[in-house]
Amino acid sequence: MNRRHPTLEWLLAYAGGSTAEAADAIMASHLTLCPQCRRTVARLEALGGALLDATPASSQSDSDEGAAAAIAAAAARARPPARRNTGSLHALTPRPMADFIAAKTGTADIQSLPWRFYGPGVQRAVIVSGAAGAVARLLRSQPGTALARHDHGSDEIAYVLSGAYRDETGLYRTGDVQCATEKAPHRPVIEGPDECIALVVSEAPPVPTELVARLGQLFLGR
Ligand SMILES: [Zn+2]
Repeated sequence: MNRRHPTLEWLLAYAGGSTAEAADAIMASHLTLCPQCRRTVARLEALGGALLDATPASSQSDSDEGAAAAIAAAAARARPPARRNTGSLHALTPRPMADFIAAKTGTADIQSLPWRFYGPGVQRAVIVSGAAGAVARLLRSQPGTALARHDHGSDEIAYVLSGAYRDETGLYRTGDVQCATEKAPHRPVIEGPDECIALVVSEAPPVPTELVARLGQLFLGR
């Protein structure tokens, strides 16, 4: 399958054990569905964590207010949902993701998550908030919803639990990962007949770019 994958920065951070729990759940969930990334992580793990130990963590931002305001102001046409996800998270998404959300919210029932109105056709459930780490929230968007064009207060990593969306960079389907940088505005549009649920985490990969570039050349031929 032609999947969308995490960047090498994120795979390297995951292999080195330096991803925080929200990003960890994203990476583990994607890996359960993606043999290609499993192979890459296995190769990176074989290198050992020594290289990563010497590198400082990059700065993180817990602000998603810019994106929030933009999305709340989105002019979207709300349509009746074709198929709404109900039941257990464990039937919807790989175990690392379902366990992570259930541990943070106290429920594995999709309908019982703390959904709030976030804009026309869009609901949001905050999964992790606060200054201590990355901010993680679920966005649940109905078919045909177009979010407003927005950029981010920080780097972002997103995982598609259900459905699909498209932006300027391509199509993201269930199990795909999008890694967006702070300065890359995008305008996601829900694709297909079903609602789209995605976990969006504001966090930068905790690995320096130079190191990744060097490793990529040396070991992965990228
Ligand atoms: Zn992959």
